[in-house]
Amino acid sequence: MNLHEYQGKELLNSFGVRIQRGKVADTPEKAVEVAKQLAEETGTGWWVVKAQIHAGGRGKGGGVKLAKSLDEVKELASNIIGMMLKTPQTPPQGKKVNQVLITEDVYYPGEHEPDEYYMSVLLNRGTGKNMIMYSTEGGMNIEEVAEKTPHLIFTEEIDPAFGFLPFQARKVAFNLGLSGVAFKEMVKFVTSLYTAYVKSDATLFEINPVLKTSDSKIMAVDSKVVIDDNGLFRHKDLAALRDIREENPIEVEAKAAGLSYVDLDGNVGCMVNGAGLAMSTMDLIKQAGGEPANFLDVGGTADAERVEIGFRIILKDPNVKAILVNIFGGIVRCDRVAQGVIDAYNNMGDAINVPIILRLEGTNSEEAKVLIEATKGLNVIAATEFQEAADRVQEVLQ
Ligand code: GDP
Ligand code: MN
Repeated sequence: MNLHEYQGKELLNSFGVRIQRGKVADTPEKAVEVAKQLAEETGTGWWVVKAQIHAGGRGKGGGVKLAKSLDEVKELASNIIGMMLKTPQTPPQGKKVNQVLITEDVYYPGEHEPDEYYMSVLLNRGTGKNMIMYSTEGGMNIEEVAEKTPHLIFTEEIDPAFGFLPFQARKVAFNLGLSGVAFKEMVKFVTSLYTAYVKSDATLFEINPVLKTSDSKIMAVDSKVVIDDNGLFRHKDLAALRDIREENPIEVEAKAAGLSYVDLDGNVGCMVNGAGLAMSTMDLIKQAGGEPANFLDVGGTADAERVEIGFRIILKDPNVKAILVNIFGGIVRCDRVAQGVIDAYNNMGDAINVPIILRLEGTNSEEAKVLIEATKGLNVIAATEFQEAADRVQEVLQ
């Protein structure tokens, strides 16, 4: 689950990580009100108006703007709220901005120039250890840094038996070229950041930029936080932060029905029991010259009701030209699944407007085939073998 920048920052703050302070607003009037409050609390005279969407690259897309007066806050907020913001990370049509974060300006002039670093905490699946990735080259072009000058990105792996050790925090601060107050600040920053990551059951914390202000404070100016969905049951407070306006509506509906569904770009819908079989079914579709339109695992109980919900969800995608149902009958018997498909078909009537290739293998697969073949008029094609199913998909796509 993704958090908004403002939610991620509040989470960081609760673990003692210094942040650029701000308040969220969903109307221009509210934006002015919170800007005033912020000025009282922080002494700031300039503000930054930041679009809150689940995508990065907002600065480049025009979703982050500096305001030098309350009038500008109002004007920028009314421009940004409601806009379709396009960034390299949004769908081509952009994402609708429902709210803005009004922050204090922290790039004020002073003894030194402010300096932007990059820092993230994530799991290195290769070594099975959490790691901190960081760089002196923070700001809006970290992807380019990774591509062109990867040696400027450092990593620090954390041994799960020992946790994040003080010498590692000092190494991070040292590699970033810090000294004096900023060095101490960075040690505290990275240590609290790591604690926040672990305690939240996160899969990613990415702070870009981490700022060294002109008076040597180290703070998070941006935050991208992803919480592991499987850990949310023990973080009710974090689960409550979900913003379903940011999520794919079909995926939200599938989740509510207890199905694991991931929307993809292809033309063949698939319905499968078991994640492993789903993966190989997607390969099968590719071999047959199609592209999977989704990943859908209906789980162990492929009864008529679940099959019907599955069909309805798959058919919301207008690109679907065929549906491949690939069920292995173990505990769930193939003839019951076949009956489920027939019942779902009859219930839905004309709503099913694409051919269904039904591959049932396992317990009672022969009985299932007989049932399917006995139904006249339904656009259901039975197959038993994997290859047979692929051939049928290929035929209907032609
Ligand atoms: P992103 O583009 O979606 O990653 O959004 P960020 O939160 O990283 O903001 C983009 C850029 O806005 C940052 O890299 C900064 O250069 C700039 N920015 C953010 N906060 C301030 C601020 O307080 N003052 C000024 N002058 N610029 C800021
Ligand atoms: Mn950023």
